[in-house]
Amino acid sequence: MKSLKLNTAVLLMIATFFGGETLEGKSKKQTDSIVVGISNIAGAPEGILEQAEKVAATVLEDAGIIPTWAPCPKPGEKLADFPSCPKSFGINRILVKMGHPFERKDGLKESNFGLAMGSQVIIIFAQVDQAARQAQIHTASALGMIMAHEIGHILLGENSHSKTGIMRPQWSPKEFVQGSPAYCQFTSAQTGKIHMELQKLVKGIEE
Ligand SMILES: [Zn+2]
Repeated sequence: MKSLKLNTAVLLMIATFFGGETLEGKSKKQTDSIVVGISNIAGAPEGILEQAEKVAATVLEDAGIIPTWAPCPKPGEKLADFPSCPKSFGINRILVKMGHPFERKDGLKESNFGLAMGSQVIIIFAQVDQAARQAQIHTASALGMIMAHEIGHILLGENSHSKTGIMRPQWSPKEFVQGSPAYCQFTSAQTGKIHMELQKLVKGIEE
C-alpha cells in the first residue's frame, strides 16, 4: 500500500504551481494514452471533479500521458449505464474511487488522502476537501494533484516514490519555499519507465 500525506505546505505549493506553469515550449515527446474511470462513491461535486481532472491531466500530459476520463458506476449502479467506463482495469485503464473516510481498516489513517493498489486508486474526498479549505486553496487543485500522484503509483509500480517531483511522499515547507514547478512533475526517469510499461501493453495488444 502506498499513501500520500499532504499538509498545508503542499496545498500552498499547489496553488503556486497553477499560477503560471504551462506546457508551452515542450514538443516531440512520446505520448501514450490511458483511461481513468471515476467512481464518485463519496458524491464529490461534479464541478470540482471536472476541475480536478484538468489539474491531474496537466501533470500527466506534461509527461506525455494523455488521460481520458470516464464516469464509472458506484455500488448500486449498473456498468451498462456507463458505456465509457472500462470493462476491465490495468495500468492503462485505471479506476479512481472517490471514497468515504475510513472505508478501509488496514492502515488508512486520517492524515492520508489517497492510496493506490493494483489498478485502483482510492481518494478520501472529504479529507482532501477539509485540508484544502483549511489551507484556503481550491479543493479541485489539491484533488487533482493527489489524483496525479496516485495514478503515478499505478503507472510506476512498486517503490515509486522519489525525492523530487510529483511522486514525493510528502511536500515539506522547505520545498514549498523553493517553489519550483519541478515539484509537480514526473522525473525524466519516471516518465521513461511509464512509457516503457505502457508501450509493452500497446505492443502486447498488437501481437
Ligand atoms: Zn505516494
